[in-house]
Amino acid sequence: MKVDLNNKVALVTGAAQGIGEAIAKSLAANGARVIRTDRAANPATGVVAMDVTNPAQIQSVIADLVRDQGRLDILVNNAGIIRRNDLADFTEEDWDAVVDTNLKTLFFLSQAAAGVMTRQGAGKIINIASLLSFQGGIRVPSYAAAKSGVAGLTKALANELAPKGVQVNAIAPGYIATNNTAALQADETRNRQILERIPTGRWGKPEDIAGAAVFLASPASDYVTGHVLAVDGGWLAR
Ligand code: NDP
Repeated sequence: MKVDLNNKVALVTGAAQGIGEAIAKSLAANGARVIRTDRAANPATGVVAMDVTNPAQIQSVIADLVRDQGRLDILVNNAGIIRRNDLADFTEEDWDAVVDTNLKTLFFLSQAAAGVMTRQGAGKIINIASLLSFQGGIRVPSYAAAKSGVAGLTKALANELAPKGVQVNAIAPGYIATNNTAALQADETRNRQILERIPTGRWGKPEDIAGAAVFLASPASDYVTGHVLAVDGGWLAR
């Protein structure tokens, strides 16, 4: 089967850098028209402003997109943040910021996109989950809770949208070298422990995630829904 995303319109959140940027580039390389969004606009790189915690901005970006492009075929819910702290010091702000950005907004952006996709009778929603959709992690309780929620929500939305021709899946990246993991990479002990546990023996690159996104965005995955696909160099296999 040949993967062809020509005439498909994709929206990627948090796409100025890291995993989101790599996914956006790969979708575009396979023919999709990709709207890259992030917290701040960057006219030089074509990134459009859409803070996913701002419901009014979400509505206006989707409305502009449908007006200009006439459709929305692929939504990649990638924007995410992480806060690290011991349980005793973990603040309500660190809880709310992570759960709102990584889980609540993913639901409402999916709701807005699903409205367009179900009218078309087709669409692909791809959520970026985490190994902490399966595991508890260390010192990141709000992140583990939110990403576990992303796995559950992926299945819940998949069930409702499958009869309407929309597939909802998630990618669970392993340890990928981006800003999100800069603190871990800089911590000599944690960095060594992480590398010792990854069968592939290296940190992932953002580009390692892009192939799974292209698969889940394309007709090659039309019979795949409600799945959380780990792309982790074998981490979960150990
Ligand atoms: P990066 O920090 O490199 O990129 C995340 C991007 O999302 C940034 O450009 C960031 O902007 C943007 N963003 C954050 N908050 C918002 C917001 N409210 N509205 C719009 N954009 C926002 O991280 P990664 O590429 O590593 O992470 C991408 C996704 O992958 C996240 O969901 C993350 O949880 C997940 N992930 C990453 C893993 C890894 O090892 N790196 C492992 C598992 C999952 P700004 O810089 O302004 O904050």
